[in-house]
Amino acid sequence: MFKRYDQKQQFLLPFNLEEFVPENHIARVLNDIIDVIDISAIESTYSEEGCPAYHPRLLLKILLYGYLINIRSSRKIEQMTQTDTAFMYLAAMQKPDFHTICRFRSTHLGPIKEIFSQVVTFCKEMDLIGSSISIDGTKVKANASPRQSKSSDALEKEIDKILKESIETDKHEDEIYGDSTPYQIPEELVDKKKRLEKIKAAKKKLDEEKLKKVNITDNDARIMKHKDGSKKPSYNCQVAVDEKEQIIVAADVVNEENDLHQMEPMIQNVKNTLGDKPTIVLADAGYFSYDNVEFLLNEEIDAYIPDNFYKAEKEGKTRKFRKALFKYDEEKDCYYCPAAFEIPFIRIQKRKGEPDLRYYVCSYCSKCVLKNACTMSGKRTITRDPREHLMEDMRAKLNTEKGTEKYQKRMSTVEPVFGQMKQDRGFREFLLRGKGKTKIEFVMMCTVHNIRKIADFMKREGKNLKEILNMITRRGNECGNRWGSVAGMAHKLW
Ligand code: SF4
Repeated sequence: MFKRYDQKQQFLLPFNLEEFVPENHIARVLNDIIDVIDISAIESTYSEEGCPAYHPRLLLKILLYGYLINIRSSRKIEQMTQTDTAFMYLAAMQKPDFHTICRFRSTHLGPIKEIFSQVVTFCKEMDLIGSSISIDGTKVKANASPRQSKSSDALEKEIDKILKESIETDKHEDEIYGDSTPYQIPEELVDKKKRLEKIKAAKKKLDEEKLKKVNITDNDARIMKHKDGSKKPSYNCQVAVDEKEQIIVAADVVNEENDLHQMEPMIQNVKNTLGDKPTIVLADAGYFSYDNVEFLLNEEIDAYIPDNFYKAEKEGKTRKFRKALFKYDEEKDCYYCPAAFEIPFIRIQKRKGEPDLRYYVCSYCSKCVLKNACTMSGKRTITRDPREHLMEDMRAKLNTEKGTEKYQKRMSTVEPVFGQMKQDRGFREFLLRGKGKTKIEFVMMCTVHNIRKIADFMKREGKNLKEILNMITRRGNECGNRWGSVAGMAHKLW
């Protein structure tokens, strides 16, 4: 059961909520979109009994609007519902307190992800999504101090220290009050007890996951290096952005610093949201691995991902002759060096958990005039991974005019998205703690990013949401059932 929520209600004083925000205000777009999406997943978590709750659409709207304008604190949002006309419009003059706002945000990861998906579907049906995506990650600081990241030894020392201090405090209290005083745990001890619990939980995590350090405030965060060179407890926020209108089609938060293992989950994420795989995928060298390239080949996705040495070698930053200058002959299983000598296969080099490497050694180096530019050792050696042809094919593709042009699109697709989030919306640090809750925050950030893109599109086209829905429904009628879901949304609004 919900409290009555009616934005069209009449007041005794002659004012109308519709007059609180201008016609083309972004809050109206957000309002209309949240009005048409299905929130039954959230509604189903409420009980029919007890006091009527604030309507989930109201809470969703004020939270998302807060994220859109860089106001994320629940206390600040509560305050804004009393002072800011856009918040008043979205909340229909109701004033939920910060506990309600905070609780709502922390407990609905699944439904909030579902809302993100619905907004993406909406973008797809508006024709804002193409078939080429860029995948990238950015580090966002956790809500935790770097000083609270500690090693196993440091944690044990602190546990001992707190235990000793607690015994001392106990003794002191007993000396003062004796047995006759009704015992109340002193405040100092309560704080110590809480700290001890936190440290013990952190220590457990550190042992279980065999970590070098763990953060006491946010156990899930990991120390990560940021672009400015600083190291902080952070999360790695992953996005897949469509090239056409910079719509985020998939988002996730992981606590692995490296992007290497995120390609497959992100593609799966895109499939779940869009119902189809992308045709083209662009990603930077952080995503290059033979496993990833093989996976994308098997998925029949046209991928453009340079390897770690591609750029350095292309810019001639490697000190000695780069490997790409050595031509591999598959038939003879040998390399030809820049001085045109044959470098034969010599032996197999075993590796733990990886395919064996093939080892090639040149025996002409001592007489070669190019030696100083080629190698510091007596003989130049080359190793070859059995999957190295994947890297060679990828490099060849990236070196074509089409490949270079395609890969450059990555920068203008995904990098502005992180810029808009961090610069424009101030998203440089999480407010919530733990992997689950940081995911909620990030998915909300991505949802408002997409809503902003929808608003930009509407402004460009000079249309309001009803007209857009009308257009989509008309198009749907022409193409069969494809636009059925949006037609359903439209009827809700009309
Ligand atoms: S140093 Fe050896 S491998 Fe390098 S170019 Fe000369 S002969 Fe070839």
